[in-house]
Amino acid sequence: MTDVLLIQLPIPRLNYGRRTGNVPLAAACLKQAATDIADVRIDVLPESVASFVGDAALLSLIEERRPDVIGFSAFSWNIDRVLYLSRRLKSTLAARIILGGPEITRDNPRILSADIDFYVYGDGEAVFRRLLLDQNFWQKRQAAEPAADWFRASPSPYLSGGLEPQIENIMLLETQRGCPYHCAFCYYNKSHTTLVFADRARVIEAVQWACDQGVDELFLLDPSLNVRPDLADLLEQIRRVNPDRRLALFSEIRAEGVDAPLAALFAAAGFRGFEIGLQTTHPEALKIMRRSTDIGLFLKGARLLKASGISAAVDLIMGLPADTPGAFKRTVDFVADNELNEDVQLFPLTVLPGTEFRRRHKELGLVFEPHPPYTIERTASFDQNDFMEALDYAENRLDTAFFPPPDLDIAWRFSGVDAERQAADVYVRLGGRKYLNKLIVAGKRPLGKISELARRVTSPYQVFLGPQRLDPVYVADLLKILTAANPFCPIEVVLMEPADLITGMRFVDHISLQRPHFLDGDLRYLYPRPGNRAALVTIVSRNAAPRILDDMQRHVFWWQDARLPERPELEDLFELDGVLIDVEAAADTLQNWQDRIAPVSAELPYISFARLDLQRRWLALTAADDYANGIMDYLPGSP
Ligand code: SF4
Repeated sequence: MTDVLLIQLPIPRLNYGRRTGNVPLAAACLKQAATDIADVRIDVLPESVASFVGDAALLSLIEERRPDVIGFSAFSWNIDRVLYLSRRLKSTLAARIILGGPEITRDNPRILSADIDFYVYGDGEAVFRRLLLDQNFWQKRQAAEPAADWFRASPSPYLSGGLEPQIENIMLLETQRGCPYHCAFCYYNKSHTTLVFADRARVIEAVQWACDQGVDELFLLDPSLNVRPDLADLLEQIRRVNPDRRLALFSEIRAEGVDAPLAALFAAAGFRGFEIGLQTTHPEALKIMRRSTDIGLFLKGARLLKASGISAAVDLIMGLPADTPGAFKRTVDFVADNELNEDVQLFPLTVLPGTEFRRRHKELGLVFEPHPPYTIERTASFDQNDFMEALDYAENRLDTAFFPPPDLDIAWRFSGVDAERQAADVYVRLGGRKYLNKLIVAGKRPLGKISELARRVTSPYQVFLGPQRLDPVYVADLLKILTAANPFCPIEVVLMEPADLITGMRFVDHISLQRPHFLDGDLRYLYPRPGNRAALVTIVSRNAAPRILDDMQRHVFWWQDARLPERPELEDLFELDGVLIDVEAAADTLQNWQDRIAPVSAELPYISFARLDLQRRWLALTAADDYANGIMDYLPGSP
């Protein structure tokens, strides 16, 4: 029996429980493609575990399982973590390791490692089958083989129970592989030379399944849904399956191709939103990226979608070759003047492996960070200062924050328990096991015990220090132990009323996180200067005098009055980064206060509750769509 474990690791987040969108769809497709092979057992690491378990715990879990083959789906956000885990696993297991996914391209030197046994370029199903059927095939060390026939006729892997739509209440459905366009920044086409569409019957049976299961949202992973030849028929059939439009559908589309009848068909089928890539309105930049766009038709299509009750999220890219700060502002003005700013996504250009821009970066004058996510640093017409100015302009003109600070979620106390339990570590259950989410260090705890706990942390996790003064050398050692065991897991250190602020801040100098971390690039524009973005320090204090802090540090007021604050009192704390509400009151008093304040919370400083149950309720009231389901059921005590 050959035992195979397939793993997809998420985009790292600074807040535990935030949706990651890490649906292991590719892994589930591979499993489905190989179900008929005898003497092979294939498991996909469930999303709830892969997305929220820390590095050390993930290693223990895989080592215990002892698979013969481990397959990783590699993206720019997880490639360094995948290579780290592979190196560690190779030293303890005899398993063979396969890498596939968008990061695996022939022009990407970053992926090369002696720990990897096989690289799969493009579609995975056919190559995966050959590896399981023919031992000699491993000697090739790499392969690319289209899987068009298999893709066209296969049911969605959700139908066989291989995925967990309940985690994010979303189902992903692949309806097309390949794209007729060839935008120079995009790697979507991978090894595809032709377009392949999933059979209509397969798409409809998946939509039916989503309706039957009560899934809230279905995202059609289709880069340009309107190129599908039988689109009108498909939409009519979806309408019949989803007559009450309870299932909300989303996809991507070229807005230029939308006319009034098509917009009406989309609306009748239950579509609620499309991503419509504009990227820029600058003709020269559009030409260089091979994305010819008729701006008039784009606008007409976007307006037709909106008039049909379908939101149109406009994508923009900052730092495209030939784009200038002035041209970028004109693009932003175009979006604002035409009231397309309801849901704009703005990304700095990322010069991804496998793309035309990567191939031609020297000729085009693109200077980008050599590590993921390969963010542009400057171009011939956009210097480093221009990026911050362009971002400020876009945020003001479009009235949004493209890189908002992390949520404030610093609850640590259980309700209705004795004093001892109030200082208990906080665990969550993932995949049937308990993992440490919040480590409470109110007094000195043995470092041997900390080493043990480091092997059980979630990703991300928090460490609460104080309020008693702690020896700085001890704290430095503690943070080193935790982060050395989990070098890719974002960490938040919460300092409860620190007596010595400067020493408290320097604790962070002692962490051993991987640098540069993916978040250093991904959240580059959270602050003007580049730097650490994976370790956050939050000071909680009863002193409301604002303190001068560095990047990735925040000061939160500790509200411990006998009564709850009123709106003007919260507004008085706007100069700080938030308020921790730590008030003991009757349950209905607290809940009434939350119900009253939640609708206006966007106009107030960030709020967190000290009690875990109240904080969960607060997040459900103020940010329900941002958090995953079923992974924040907190438990006290030890593993
Ligand atoms: S950006 Fe969209 S339209 Fe352009 S090649 Fe990629 S998937 Fe196709």
